[in-house]
Amino acid sequence: MEHLFAGWRAQFVAGEDRPVGCVFCTIGAEPDHDDAHYVIARGDTCFVVLNLYPYTSGHLMVVPNAHVGDLAGLDGALAEEMWAFIRAAHDALRAAYHPEGINVGMNLGRAAGAGIAEHVHVHLVPRWSGDANFMSTLAETRVLPETLSDSLIKLRTHWSAH
Ligand SMILES: [Zn+2]
Repeated sequence: MEHLFAGWRAQFVAGEDRPVGCVFCTIGAEPDHDDAHYVIARGDTCFVVLNLYPYTSGHLMVVPNAHVGDLAGLDGALAEEMWAFIRAAHDALRAAYHPEGINVGMNLGRAAGAGIAEHVHVHLVPRWSGDANFMSTLAETRVLPETLSDSLIKLRTHWSAH
């Protein structure tokens, strides 16, 4: 777990300029650009998108459309749909990748490793025995067995909302 989401954090630490505004709000507001943003699915209140800096192939995030900064904002219909999407994403990852395990989690706050702390999101990361060792060695080069476009097609194929 100590290396989990390290790539995401490294991207921030390296000083790469953060996008003007909020990248998740931008994706949420541009449903006509789902291919460009690697959006797998959308609901009324949230969407599912690939992580551009995946820890493993299939690393995705469930993100509310609303610019919500903490758990207090995740209630009502949003909480219901987010949980349904987390379950659906879990099922899609299982069907598409047959992983040995899946990490499901949130990094709340910069100190916890959040790359975009002001807009909460839930990571789902398919895992295999030994992938941490593999990735910690090669994290700088991000050698992954498939492209984001391939991951997008694969997960859309296996997506079915509950
Ligand atoms: Zn936002």
